[in-house]
Amino acid sequence: MVKRRNTQIQEHIRAMLQNATEALSHVDIETRLDVPADRATIFRVMNRLVEDGFAHKIMSDDGKSYFAACHNGCEHGHHNDEHSHFRCVQCNRLQCLEDRIKPVLPDNYSLLHANIVLTGVCPQCR
Ligand SMILES: [Zn+2]
Ligand SMILES: [Zn+2]
Ligand SMILES: [Zn+2]
Repeated sequence: MVKRRNTQIQEHIRAMLQNATEALSHVDIETRLDVPADRATIFRVMNRLVEDGFAHKIMSDDGKSYFAACHNGCEHGHHNDEHSHFRCVQCNRLQCLEDRIKPVLPDNYSLLHANIVLTGVCPQCR
């Protein structure tokens, strides 16, 4: 029973991320979820979705973590999310940008994950 409820929560969160136009924090997810779920369950589901290559996690400069659906053919244990993120300092929405970032690393450094957050003012707030 508990397992089935977790699956249901996971499906709801997947759909929510897929339809979102911005990255969502734990609090956003909790607020928007229309099935009852405690915080620990949401944390667990999010970790699972990241592990499965369905969502990527963004550590923002505002100290919060955000989640967004992956669109670059990510798979279990492997993400290809080399794009930057934009956080608007007025409405505080964080969005994935469609750019492709290829950081230039010194010899013998290998990239595992890029966590790039730009801040500024979004088109809606200008
Ligand atoms: Zn990804
Ligand atoms: Zn804005
Ligand atoms: Zn992103």
